[in-house]
Amino acid sequence: MTSPPLAIAVVGAGIGGLAAAVGLRQAGFDVDVYEQAPELTEVGGGINMGPNAARILYRLGLAEGLDREAVRPISTHQRRWQDGRTLQRAPLNPACEQIYGAPHLTVHRADLLSIIASGFPAERIHLGHRLVGLAEKGDHVEARFEGGARRAADVLIGADGIHSTVRAALLGEEAPRFAGCVAYRGLVPVERIADLGLEIGSQSWVGPGGHFVHYFVSRGRLLNFVGWTEHDTWNREDWTDRATVARALAAFEGWHPQVRRIIAAAETCFVWALFDREPLPRWSAGRTTLLGDACHPMYPFMGQGAAQAIEDGATLAACLVAGGEASPAETLRRYESLRQPRVTRLQEMSRANKTRFHLPDGPAQEARDAEWASASDRSPEALRWLYGFDAGRLPEP
Ligand SMILES: Cc1cc2nc3c(=O)[nH]c(=O)nc-3n(C[C@H](O)[C@H](O)[C@H](O)COP(=O)(O)OP(=O)(O)OC[C@H]3O[C@@H](n4cnc5c(N)ncnc54)[C@H](O)[C@@H]3O)c2cc1C
Repeated sequence: MTSPPLAIAVVGAGIGGLAAAVGLRQAGFDVDVYEQAPELTEVGGGINMGPNAARILYRLGLAEGLDREAVRPISTHQRRWQDGRTLQRAPLNPACEQIYGAPHLTVHRADLLSIIASGFPAERIHLGHRLVGLAEKGDHVEARFEGGARRAADVLIGADGIHSTVRAALLGEEAPRFAGCVAYRGLVPVERIADLGLEIGSQSWVGPGGHFVHYFVSRGRLLNFVGWTEHDTWNREDWTDRATVARALAAFEGWHPQVRRIIAAAETCFVWALFDREPLPRWSAGRTTLLGDACHPMYPFMGQGAAQAIEDGATLAACLVAGGEASPAETLRRYESLRQPRVTRLQEMSRANKTRFHLPDGPAQEARDAEWASASDRSPEALRWLYGFDAGRLPEP
């Protein structure tokens, strides 16, 4: 007699949780997703999906939505904040497809979330379910939700973001800390900036104490921008009224006319504070584990937070399939030990990029620019370790 498939509860229907749910279901597990919000939502505009994550999304059978909604940028171009001088420029597509067998995509977050959700039965996504507690019960784990509902599962996955309740239940309460950066984010209808003649690519402008990134999303109809500036403190109340186009323009005073033109063309913009945690010593306990921002939030300065959450789901599904008769606890430890070195490296690189991107003009900035000019760290070849990695393929045990 074959045993029934493991019942898996995924807490959190963000990009990471839903991508994991699709993969786990396709691998034959009995999966339910619990999301606190009354509907599926993603805050913000665009997101980069490097080939390492795009490969997984295509493998999940999401090609139709991705090919329809996502943009395939031709290049990535880093420039100086004031005079627009090129610091480095590297091809993205079709180079990534040729080298790695998967494209580099830029996509609106809401589009990406609904594309991933289209691969999972809606009736197994339980909206309005806010997890408030969990308990290991030996042969299962019990999840408790606001309002009193309880659900049992063989394995519980906390994909509930940087303020994770599952993480707090496993490892104790600890508030994430403000990372000293805020982002002004906005979307611009492309007809408003047609005169700029922008290539379908991604551009990133680096300057003292800030950087500004823009790329196309939504079938190329919108230009997404994110402008980062450094600040000592964050207080939500003080900042809520700062998310105006005028404030964003003031924050990028003196920057290149193209940067200012893009900000000015936005109807609205909003502000986003960056939070961080130290790498965790462990992610799993018993039948419960974590993925994505719940266990490894990272500065978005490698464009890899969501991509790593998607990788987590692929490795987790592969480990659970390979786990066979092993205890779930043993399998979850294997998943964690496979994932930790890679995400820790990316957390460190993302942090280092905050300093590198925001150097004041002077000798250190000149040395950085010379280094980028002589050895582009953005080229598909230089990023082989990142983009060529297949998180769904496990190394031999
Ligand atoms: C400005 C900016 C730009 C970025 N750019 C990129 C990029 O280009 N590429 C990239 O890969 N990453 C990028 N990132 C990082 C990326 O956005 C995150 O790493 C990613 O969205 C995390 O996904 P997640 O599913 O782990 O968590 P989340 O998206 O935070 O999802 C968590 C979900 O859990 C739900 N939830 C929370 N608590 C509970 C509870 N108690 N019960 C039930 N449900 C709960 C939430 O409602 C939410 O739906 C960027 C981030 C920022 C801020």
